[in-house]
Amino acid sequence: MTLDNQLGGQNTTTTTQRRAIDPPLPVPEKNAAGGNERKVMGGQSGQMPWFHGKISRELAEKLLTPRKDGLFLVRESTNFPGDFTLCVCFDSRVEHYRIILQDNRITIDEEEYFDTLASLVLHYQRDADGLCTALGEPLPARKTSSDTPHPHQHTTNNCSESQLSSQDSFLIDKSVFEEAGWVINGDDITLQEKIGKGEFGDVRLGVYKGSQVAVKELLKDTIGAAHKFLTEAKVMTSLQHENLVRLLGLVIEEKNGRNKIFLVTEYMSKGSLLEYLRSRGRQYVTKKDQIGFAYDTCCGMAYLESKHVVHRDLAARNVLLSEEGQAKVADFGLASPDGAAIDSGKLPIKWTAPEALRHSQFSNKSDMWSFGVLLWEIYSFGRVPYPRIPLGEVVKHVEKGYQMESPEGCPPPVYTIMKEAWELDPTSRPTFKQAKENLNNFRLQNPQ
Ligand code: ADP
Ligand code: MG
Repeated sequence: MTLDNQLGGQNTTTTTQRRAIDPPLPVPEKNAAGGNERKVMGGQSGQMPWFHGKISRELAEKLLTPRKDGLFLVRESTNFPGDFTLCVCFDSRVEHYRIILQDNRITIDEEEYFDTLASLVLHYQRDADGLCTALGEPLPARKTSSDTPHPHQHTTNNCSESQLSSQDSFLIDKSVFEEAGWVINGDDITLQEKIGKGEFGDVRLGVYKGSQVAVKELLKDTIGAAHKFLTEAKVMTSLQHENLVRLLGLVIEEKNGRNKIFLVTEYMSKGSLLEYLRSRGRQYVTKKDQIGFAYDTCCGMAYLESKHVVHRDLAARNVLLSEEGQAKVADFGLASPDGAAIDSGKLPIKWTAPEALRHSQFSNKSDMWSFGVLLWEIYSFGRVPYPRIPLGEVVKHVEKGYQMESPEGCPPPVYTIMKEAWELDPTSRPTFKQAKENLNNFRLQNPQ
């Protein structure tokens, strides 16, 4: 337990020159954050064109045609979640090699071990080393035919997804974070009580350089979980806005050959907006608070929109409140572009736009749909949306044009934004930039 008080105060973010890791901007090609994978990929900017995400054995075999010796792809194992499978053509057949995770390294033969999928592929491209053949040409995930259902091939009207996807590498090397200055020494953080529970593990209060911070721990020890977690961190390194929960850094501890990863973010002392609305209710939450939460969230989202980043899980539970009551968008866990993270079984049905539920068409406009639901949550003090409709029937009703009524006391201009956000045609929905202007005008004309 070390407490570095040199900086003290609230200023925990001025210490290092941190760089964004692969900013999700529509930048064509760059080598900014070149970790090891960059080098081993031979200047392809860490792309892993051969990585196809979670596709079945059958689909892999279908895609690998014609069966040219050495033609290969890597997929996520469907039988062994968390593991990968290398599929390679040889002698008119497809051989499937299971890639297993052992002590945080990956291996096929339990003789050669690798830190990244990229380095494994490179090794077997150089030498068959016990495989049926050395790896030859990769089958790129994005060049497969567009009529094949495929987790990486969401038709999306947002360019960011492909940008993020193509520049993302499956196993994010921790050196990428180190080189970019985002790694925090675990000894500099004092952990305190538990303040929440996330999908990956507990969220705890901590003290770092004299300031309170939130520390989110990764408990699940699979490459898949680590990837999702690090993708969240990676997305966050490139985003900075007063209405987005700020990433301070990552702690990566190695103990007994295992990695423990913690995500350190600014501490939001008033907790989640949803709990705040529910626990304080009508008696305590004022009209001014409500429009403030709506406007703050919309500003954060307008910033994401300007960066062409799609959040995918916008809801009151994922908006946090600071001590001063400022709302900030959190939880970029689903902003990840990979197939695994867009497992449709995990989507929050009542918050997700119909085109995203049905066809994985996520965009800033599908986020706008969710924002409409979030506005409804704010003005109904945290009720569960579509209160009288069973979950299984929501999409059916919504697709027929059903829209929720205005919550009691909701100002008409705010309800107008909700209704526009729930237009079935995504292009008819407002942009966050427009919604922000509308909310701001309303706020200024009605100083409550
Ligand atoms: P998950 O990504 O698994 O949904 P969240 O990031 O939403 O996890 O965190 C889960 C809960 O932990 C939140 O609802 C909130 O109560 C608490 N929490 C998370 N981050 C913070 C933070 N920065 N400050 C205060 N509480 C937080
Ligand atoms: Mg959450």
